[in-house]
Amino acid sequence: MFENTERTELSNLGEFGLISHLAKHFEAKNPSTLLGIGDDAAIVKMGDAYMAVSTDTFIEGVHFDLMFHPLKHLGYKAVAATVSDICAMNALPTQITCAIGLSNRFSLEAVEELYEGMRLACEKYGVDLIGGDTSSSRSGLILTLTAIGQVDLSKVTYRKGASVNDLLVVTGDVGGAFMGLQILEREKKVFLEHPSMQPDLESYDYIVGRQLKAEARVDVIQILDELKIVPTSMMDVSDGIASELFHLGGASNVGFDIYEDKLPIDPQTVDTAIAFDLNPSIMALNGGEDYELLFTIKQNDWDKIKNNPDFTVIGHATDLVNSYRLNTKAGNTFDIKAQGWQHFSKD
Ligand code: ADP
Ligand code: MG
Repeated sequence: MFENTERTELSNLGEFGLISHLAKHFEAKNPSTLLGIGDDAAIVKMGDAYMAVSTDTFIEGVHFDLMFHPLKHLGYKAVAATVSDICAMNALPTQITCAIGLSNRFSLEAVEELYEGMRLACEKYGVDLIGGDTSSSRSGLILTLTAIGQVDLSKVTYRKGASVNDLLVVTGDVGGAFMGLQILEREKKVFLEHPSMQPDLESYDYIVGRQLKAEARVDVIQILDELKIVPTSMMDVSDGIASELFHLGGASNVGFDIYEDKLPIDPQTVDTAIAFDLNPSIMALNGGEDYELLFTIKQNDWDKIKNNPDFTVIGHATDLVNSYRLNTKAGNTFDIKAQGWQHFSKD
């Protein structure tokens, strides 16, 4: 199957290049596999029901830092992030499993804290923890969660499906989780240098909360259902809008024009970005972990969402394939580069 004897660096492919390279060798053979690798979740037919299935891994030192991430919040966030991919298919989550790798650095009480967070998230999203796996780890805490959800076939929403002139909508606000992380990392550095100093987090409660206490937008899936809107394409914002735009556009064979003055950014995100000498709009485009939903709708569905402050139209699909343009407040147009989290990069 893989007979090449040369050595190719993973950094040459990047995360998405690696996934599509590996996926080429795994064509789905079962008729029940409606959708395999390549979207936020797979879609599987079981009798008359359709299930969405998705897996996410969280590794200490890569995805979270236990110096500032309380275990209870971490458990909650792991469930939220995994469930978010189910929402991205317009499905409602129903079950999760959790595999955990632990070292004896963790006490029973610590693991209980982690699971208390998972329990709270399960309760919030209406999912059952139905299994998992427990093993030892020599490289810190590792969590792998799989979420399952249910969806009617007529409502399944893929990354592909957007048509020219469809409106691009994002829920909530973006960039906050990334700015929250900048604050937490700054306070960690201060603490390591001056352990007697108390962290100053109060004035950053919203963005720190966005980082530590992520939520999945299960509520949005319910609202879309009530509004009788089936988005034409959808994904969740885990790597930043810029990166997700490339996925939606690439899968749908359209381009996107978006407008800087439409980007929903919380004032605390704006103030913090400016204090860090960063451009708030760039943070909104490239910051990850917001777990909002980014989707396209037909223009005639606009009336149904226009009064909901949680939904913001930030642009529209164009026939310029591979073109992702930001129209700035100053009236300029820039090509957007996908700068989401780059795994396997050399720096
Ligand atoms: P998301 O950010 O929405 O969780 P990913 O970028 O992690 O999505 O994954 C994109 C697609 O690739 C998904 O269909 C996922 O199931 C699949 N995928 C990711 N890693 C692997 C892997 N190692 N083997 C098989 N499929 C994978
Ligand atoms: Mg996703």
